[in-house]
Amino acid sequence: MRQEYDVIIVGTGVAGLFATLHLPQDKQILLITKSEAEESDSFLAQGGICVLKNEDDYAAFFEDTLRAGHYQNNREAVDLMIRSSQEIICDLIDCDVEFEREWGDFVYTKEGAHTAARILYHEDLTGKEITSKLLSKVRELENVTLLEHTTMLDIIEKNNVCYGIVAELENSSVIPIYSHYTLWASGGVGGLYKHSTNYRHLTGDALAISMKHKIELENVDYVQIHPTTLYSEDAGRRFLISESVRGEGAVLLNRHGERFADELLPRDVLTGEIRKQMELDDSRYVYLSLRKIHPDDIVKRFPNIYKRCLEEGYDIRREPIPVVPAQHYFMGGVKVDLDGRTSMKHLYAAGETACNGVHGANRLASNSLLESLVWAKRAAKDMEACMQKDEKKDAKHTSSIAEMVSVRMSDYPSSYQEFSENYHELTRQRIEADKLRRQMQMSKNQEDL
Ligand SMILES: Cc1cc2nc3c(=O)[nH]c(=O)nc-3n(C[C@H](O)[C@H](O)[C@H](O)COP(=O)(O)OP(=O)(O)OC[C@H]3O[C@@H](n4cnc5c(N)ncnc54)[C@H](O)[C@@H]3O)c2cc1C
Repeated sequence: MRQEYDVIIVGTGVAGLFATLHLPQDKQILLITKSEAEESDSFLAQGGICVLKNEDDYAAFFEDTLRAGHYQNNREAVDLMIRSSQEIICDLIDCDVEFEREWGDFVYTKEGAHTAARILYHEDLTGKEITSKLLSKVRELENVTLLEHTTMLDIIEKNNVCYGIVAELENSSVIPIYSHYTLWASGGVGGLYKHSTNYRHLTGDALAISMKHKIELENVDYVQIHPTTLYSEDAGRRFLISESVRGEGAVLLNRHGERFADELLPRDVLTGEIRKQMELDDSRYVYLSLRKIHPDDIVKRFPNIYKRCLEEGYDIRREPIPVVPAQHYFMGGVKVDLDGRTSMKHLYAAGETACNGVHGANRLASNSLLESLVWAKRAAKDMEACMQKDEKKDAKHTSSIAEMVSVRMSDYPSSYQEFSENYHELTRQRIEADKLRRQMQMSKNQEDL
């Protein structure tokens, strides 16, 4: 294995893979993942991916994203995401991704807080369809080294410039790996929560490393709770009952079998309604009934959810299922600009790890795959342009990074265990502290009025 690369990418979800595919093939790229390449939240996405269907839908798409985000969104970023969406879908189709079609035309679905059907999907396995196709394209590339079970524990930094990472390899050795550019695509924070739809190994590691190196973070307190996950007594990842199930007509019921909320409210508002109802019912869940959807359509449209619920003892064609809110998505993260640049030179972030402000305080359903792909591509293109400039400046490329930056391994965690013991709690505390700070600021603003 080399010890120096042009680019290191941390994470093999949609953001990491798509960025890899948009980097020049004459560059040496190292792609790492903490787990198996297939174990990322990107594989779990069920509902779909938003797209600007036609120009007539621009204003409504923009407004829906802003309203869901409580108007805390970065409008420039929202515009960029929507305007880039058709190009991204074309890129995906070029990678052999298939979306539901009827007579050759795309079929669009709708989810909570959308005023129009503008979501492309592939059964209820959209994330798996997209991510597995991107992964197989990446595996064909000879300039890419993909290491599984390899965990970033830190970055190599000098004077606010990133020169690579320190990683624990599969054989437990901890080594420095140098790079000219680094992209964090390391996903969300669900693993820090007891109840989450996320993979347990997604623990906001880039946030912890940012705190250590004073890299700017943004909206760290904006954590999305998904209203409907399948209730279970068991520990571990919670199984999501996609919003598109409600979009297609499923209803929420209290313990008396009565509807108690508009099922297509924004996620945070609906979560509040469900929690209120759970308290009134003195119950750990409410019910979701799919009785308004034809049984054949349930199996055809939601085969994965149908199968999984059956395994858990529920036939969703015939009976309601118990559902409960759980942590789902992280709107905040490492602060980036419109090209995915962080506040540290030569360090980029994209996907759920990054915060470009698109989602504001609350993400609109099916905007995150799109956002991850848009910024992954932009970051890759920006890195490419920077590398071209670097080459012009330093035509000879004389010295290696290892010669320029001295690394003392005692400055870094000696294992992932040490890293998690030191940093996971710190990250949780930072999220809670920022939440409190914002609440205090809001009450002060109210008093001042
Ligand atoms: C159940 C579920 C359903 C969803 N449905 C939808 C949907 O329908 N539409 C939509 O738009 N969005 C959906 N989302 C959200 C969306 O899937 C994610 O936001 C998106 O896939 C994030 O992609 P990513 O590439 O940023 O991160 P991920 O896909 O989570 O990948 C993170 C990668 O980083 C690696 N990693 C983490 N830490 C380290 C480390 N220290 N060292 C090395 N590697 C590391 C992980 O191993 C993994 O490979 C859903 C999410 C979940 C959980």
